Amino acid sequence: MNIVNRFSLNFSARSANENFARAAVAAFAAQLDPTLEEINDIKTAVSEAVTNCIVHAYAEKTGKVYITCTINDKNELRVSVRDTGCGIENVDRALEPLFTTVGGERAGLGFAVMQSFMDDLRVRSVSGRGTTVTMVKKIRPRYGIGG
Ligand code: ATP
Ligand code: MG
Repeated sequence: MNIVNRFSLNFSARSANENFARAAVAAFAAQLDPTLEEINDIKTAVSEAVTNCIVHAYAEKTGKVYITCTINDKNELRVSVRDTGCGIENVDRALEPLFTTVGGERAGLGFAVMQSFMDDLRVRSVSGRGTTVTMVKKIRPRYGIGG
């Protein structure tokens, strides 16, 4: 498996940048010729991950969100969304659908959405240091009429 293309960006953890972040990933993913559905899945998953950095990781302070995207020779897009915020104490519990530390305000479905819209989800987190969410989406090759 070889990486054939990549980009990185970082931005202030402000909700004003959410749309920018998911549009950047979607524009990069476009070279894989995804369907509209695949692009929407990617955008939704990236939004959820970035929102988590803004509302959870940096709830008490401001900080940066770091995104790295790669494409490999198997037509897979890998998106990593990293923060240097508060971290997650118990990742297994955080991944459970409906688990939230902000009850009443949030549904606790962000990770469930990322999991169902992408082909793979990994979460690495160190309490007090930050979190990295890595998601993979395989884009099925499409062939034109007669191809
Ligand atoms: P929803 O996404 O439905 O609005 P939610 O954000 O609480 O609700 P998830 O996105 O599934 O639900 O996240 C579950 C929990 O994991 C959060 O409530 C929060 O405690 C923790 N969490 C998620 N991402 C981060 C992060 N980047 N930094 C710190 N904690 C996080
Ligand atoms: Mg969330």
